[in-house]
Amino acid sequence: MTAQLINGKEISQQRLEKVAQETAARRAAGLRTPCLAVVLVGDDPASAVYVRNKKLACEKVGFKSLSYELPAETSQEDLLQLVDSLNANPDVDGILVQLPLPKQIDSQAVLERILPHKDVDGFHPYNVGRLVVKMPLMRPCTPKGVMTLLEAYGINPEGKKAVVVGASNIVGRPQMLELLLARATVTICHSKTQNLADEVAAADIVVAGVGIPNFVKGEWIKPGAVVIDVGINRLDNGKLCGDVEFDVAKERASMVTPVPGGVGPMTIATLLENTLHAAELHDKA
Ligand code: NAP
Repeated sequence: MTAQLINGKEISQQRLEKVAQETAARRAAGLRTPCLAVVLVGDDPASAVYVRNKKLACEKVGFKSLSYELPAETSQEDLLQLVDSLNANPDVDGILVQLPLPKQIDSQAVLERILPHKDVDGFHPYNVGRLVVKMPLMRPCTPKGVMTLLEAYGINPEGKKAVVVGASNIVGRPQMLELLLARATVTICHSKTQNLADEVAAADIVVAGVGIPNFVKGEWIKPGAVVIDVGINRLDNGKLCGDVEFDVAKERASMVTPVPGGVGPMTIATLLENTLHAAELHDKA
């Protein structure tokens, strides 16, 4: 069996078109144009690409975007001051501070400084907590994007066994909560998990977010399982690859996301959906 490819590029395009339509409708109704403030500290090339793509996506859907590019030696105090000013700025709906931040800055302190209703990345503990108690407000972009993909392909996690490989704050943990919210039975694995192959082999839905190329072996995949690869790894030859051994996994899975063109574009589409949602919350405040 060769798996059906889950086309994140196509689904993200559809979602962006919907955001663009809603943005135009807001303007026609005399409501404010959503505005996303993007903060980049330092000159990490991958972060610069992510930030550029986010700004381009804002332009595409008709959002305003504000861009702050700060030097690598920026102090924590200066960055917190910028966050405070964006929090207080009535024109700004969403604030995104691109991770990772330079070593002298405590990322968690910065993320916690962003007002929860402007936290379009969904990383503030308030927003994570709301996900825990089944009352999501701002949902972390990548895991929410995964749920959008599952829905778009008619995959209902309810009652399914889902295994998440990776337990980071931005991918694995919120992914576990999203799948739980969708009524899957969820197992989450990390670097101390024993018998990882057996855990993965039991899964109807596998989500991998580890950061190691081809880490999840194709032969671990249960025949017919759905495989979602969140990993984005750059190989020595310059090509991108995921965390799942794609060529083998696709012969066992029923559906699989490619890398690139799977989860990656969904993260950006979800960021813009969150920014629109932030603007709606802002209207009511
Ligand atoms: P991270 O913070 O480094 O977390 C990696 C996770 O993998 C940790 O929970 C770690 O376990 C676990 N892990 C490491 N080695 C393992 C092993 N041998 N067995 C089982 N688990 C292991 O990485 P991240 O930020 O979550 O990113 C993961 C991947 O997703 C990266 O490739 C990143 O580029 C990609 N990503 C993609 C998107 C997107 O839009 N598609 C967005 C974000 C990230 P411990 O908790 O025990 O350390």
